Amino acid sequence: MSRFLNEQYRAVEAYTPGEQPRDMQYIKLNTNESPYPPAPSVAAAITKEEVEQLRLYSDPTAKKLKESLAGLYGVKPEMIFLSNGSDEVLNFAFMAFGGHGAVFPDISYGFYEVFADLYGINSEMIPLEDDFSVDYRKYCGKNKLVVIANPNAPTGMTIPVWQIEEIVRTNPETVVLIDEAYVDFGGETCLPLVEKYENLLVTRTFSKSRCLAGGRLGYAFASPALIADLEKIKYSTNPYNINRLTLLLGEKTVEAESYYQEKCREIAETRQWSTQRFVELGFAVLPSKANFIFVKTEEIDGGDLYRKLKARGVLVRHFTNSRICQYNRITIGTREQMEALIDTVKEVLYENQ
Ligand SMILES: *Cc1c(COP(=O)(O)O)cnc(C)c1O
Repeated sequence: MSRFLNEQYRAVEAYTPGEQPRDMQYIKLNTNESPYPPAPSVAAAITKEEVEQLRLYSDPTAKKLKESLAGLYGVKPEMIFLSNGSDEVLNFAFMAFGGHGAVFPDISYGFYEVFADLYGINSEMIPLEDDFSVDYRKYCGKNKLVVIANPNAPTGMTIPVWQIEEIVRTNPETVVLIDEAYVDFGGETCLPLVEKYENLLVTRTFSKSRCLAGGRLGYAFASPALIADLEKIKYSTNPYNINRLTLLLGEKTVEAESYYQEKCREIAETRQWSTQRFVELGFAVLPSKANFIFVKTEEIDGGDLYRKLKARGVLVRHFTNSRICQYNRITIGTREQMEALIDTVKEVLYENQ
């Protein structure tokens, strides 16, 4: 840190993304990327002509992509915000709506706490229940920015939409942000509630179910007034927040909806297969509706398992937080990748005896 950094940022602890090591070819199951490529029509959209168009700025209103998403999800384009990954809309939401403080679960997406710190927002972290479920009653009537991932990460567990509605209804003076990064893998969306409540913000991403993590594209649904607030922040920081090629790939992605639905079905099937294998090996597996599972066993320490898998070329995600350090979060890959993972886990367990 230099002596020039503003006082307010000195104590901020930056978010640590999952590792992306280049030292060898790993079976990469640590950052919830899709094991599948984007649809063929998406890859084919990058032509020499499109690259040449990069001399021009991208459309700051992102009109075409907003209209396609509006068509797909049955909402008005004024109810959609587009961002450079959904991390950016989360960032803007904390900036715009965190004035009364923020509240989120103690075990959730680690970036929420970072954004709160960045903006000097007081954050209250409510412990998940012993079974890692969210008790929605603890988020009612808080009158703070409420942030809940549904399905949650890294647990993969969901909260029913009627409970979300209770949270939204009982916090009428503040924004409730539901992070639906993983909803396409089997969760239930609360999108219909945005027509009914002006304080609900639902965020989504193309990174996971749309196989486009490297393209950096996120979006959000909310009442037109909330969207206008986010647009104001965007135009005050980075009007061309999404590059031309990513906007184009986003449009092609929306057109290939059935391809992605099929991939999500495959992931859900592989999730079920993998869960059964882990249970047979004596692991506890939380009930996941996401593209990852959260597993632990009495046989081996969570950190040891992570390190021994990595040494054998399989990367999973381990968190050092004492409440979850016995667990590993494992992204659902292809069936072949998961078979290789299970074989490697067996080797590690055998050797550990
Ligand atoms: C991956 C993830 C995001 C953000 O992903 P982007 O790549 O920035 O769109 C947001 N929330 C949760 C819970 C995530 O796991």
